[in-house]
Amino acid sequence: MNYELIADLLYPNITQTPSDIEKSFPKRELPEGAKVTRLAPSPTGFMHFGTIFPALVNERLAHQSGGVFFLRIEDTDAKREVKGAEKDLIDTLAYYHINFDEGAVSDGDLGVYGPYRQSKRAYIYQVFAKSLIQKGLAYPMFTSEEEYEQLKESDKKAEIKNKEWTPEEVERAREEKLRARNITEEEVRENLEKGNPFVIRILADGDPEKKTPFVDLVRGKLEIPENDEDFVLLKSDGIPTYHFAHAVDDYLMGTTHVIRGEEWLPSLAKHIMLFRYLGFKLPKYLHISQLMKMEGSSKKKLSKRDKGAALSDYKADGYPAESVIEYVMTLLNSNYEDWRRANPGVEYTEFPFSIKKMSVSGSLFDFDKLNDVSKNVISTMSCDKVYDDVTVWAKEYDPELYRALTQDPAYAKRIFAIGRGGKKPRKDFATWKDVKPYLSFFYDSLFQSEDEIPSTHAKEDVKKALDLFMLMFDIKDDNSEWFNVIKKIADLIGYASDMKAYKQNPEQYKGSVADVSMFLRVAVTGKMNSPDLYEVMQILGYEKTVNRIHEAIMKYV
Ligand code: GLU
Repeated sequence: MNYELIADLLYPNITQTPSDIEKSFPKRELPEGAKVTRLAPSPTGFMHFGTIFPALVNERLAHQSGGVFFLRIEDTDAKREVKGAEKDLIDTLAYYHINFDEGAVSDGDLGVYGPYRQSKRAYIYQVFAKSLIQKGLAYPMFTSEEEYEQLKESDKKAEIKNKEWTPEEVERAREEKLRARNITEEEVRENLEKGNPFVIRILADGDPEKKTPFVDLVRGKLEIPENDEDFVLLKSDGIPTYHFAHAVDDYLMGTTHVIRGEEWLPSLAKHIMLFRYLGFKLPKYLHISQLMKMEGSSKKKLSKRDKGAALSDYKADGYPAESVIEYVMTLLNSNYEDWRRANPGVEYTEFPFSIKKMSVSGSLFDFDKLNDVSKNVISTMSCDKVYDDVTVWAKEYDPELYRALTQDPAYAKRIFAIGRGGKKPRKDFATWKDVKPYLSFFYDSLFQSEDEIPSTHAKEDVKKALDLFMLMFDIKDDNSEWFNVIKKIADLIGYASDMKAYKQNPEQYKGSVADVSMFLRVAVTGKMNSPDLYEVMQILGYEKTVNRIHEAIMKYV
């Protein structure tokens, strides 16, 4: 059998060799220890929350080491491609500020190791496939996919010596595979003349009884059974499978660390074989565990349909990008939260990300934790930033809130400034969706009374307290003068102005100054709970405050 001849029959137009191709992909000049990583998503769906994990690990490891992080679009499966998915990927990475140095951008490529879309690299893969055929390490198979699937099935059955198979059937399956492997020039020529489609398969030399030692950067030492499957390298349309494309690309693009989901672990033996056949140095591999969720008392994989799986939902739900990243960082490195406590307000990129602190078992996705993290993140933002981010979000998702906030930015910023900037900032918002219910009472257009003054307080007392406040309220009072007014009102209506006295003899009073404050709070904000009432009134101003109290009094006449 003449391998050279078969290769030429199959690819008469491919005249370049792998070393010709290599000339266009020069070795990268990078400092010692610099990592070259990539995110290599397939545009087969909208971005999953899980994708942000490898994205961030790749980005951190590259940039922390002075290396390069690039984006490669693995669009070799046209059948599964989803329209708009590539754009979603690129936009989403930008939204989360996961910046790549090279790769596919919306209007082409950035960088000299492209094209960065695999569908544009068919020629390159064919050059490498041809060279494997020339060396007798790969062969064409002129059968339909369907026929091959049957053959693969029979192969498997032959291996496990399925009892349902007669010895003759086992033998026939073996012969078929052998025949395919030993195709002659004549047969190739005949098939090509007939226009029969073909795929290129690897000629696997592995023995699954034997194990290859392998080190995964997170999982440590593994023993991988060798591959004996003649898997497909190039499909009948000349487009490669993931296995082949990733080996060729990661070699040419100088990837030092392949960081990807653990679903690729079972294919590792194939990849090790490919790098060996192609004569490439094997990159380092790191397989990230799948994200888990609790279902009852057991852990389950977070699947595509689960709440929290679609990354776009986080934006719509109003989680700031910073909160999502912060949460992912807490899941990725076990010491991140300690670091954060010691370094509040510092950019997460300052954290010394370490592979050693990554966990082998899948991280547990938990909305409560995300909300806590997000509250912390938002509490450290300046009120200008909160204002800017909320309005950007509201413009898209809550036009009513957007209108209210933008009609008077200075007023909105005074609201966002409440409890912000001190040592113990308020933690009011987990998402931008929480903003509207929090501040609606500051706007007549959004105001809705939610709580009532409990009916345990006599109507006349409530009315009297509110009436008195209307008479005595002076917007220029400072906090303590203002509170003195409330105390005076308490005395006048037979409520205790002194909390200590009240606690000692509650039966002597109808209530306390705290109740009087509550009357005012409910009247002004429509809620039992609100930020500091003095500050609220200061922001609302005299007129709005008085109007609200007047409206409340009307309920009692
Ligand atoms: N295209 C593969 C995927 O989307 C990428 C795996 C890898 O990063 O190598 O799963």
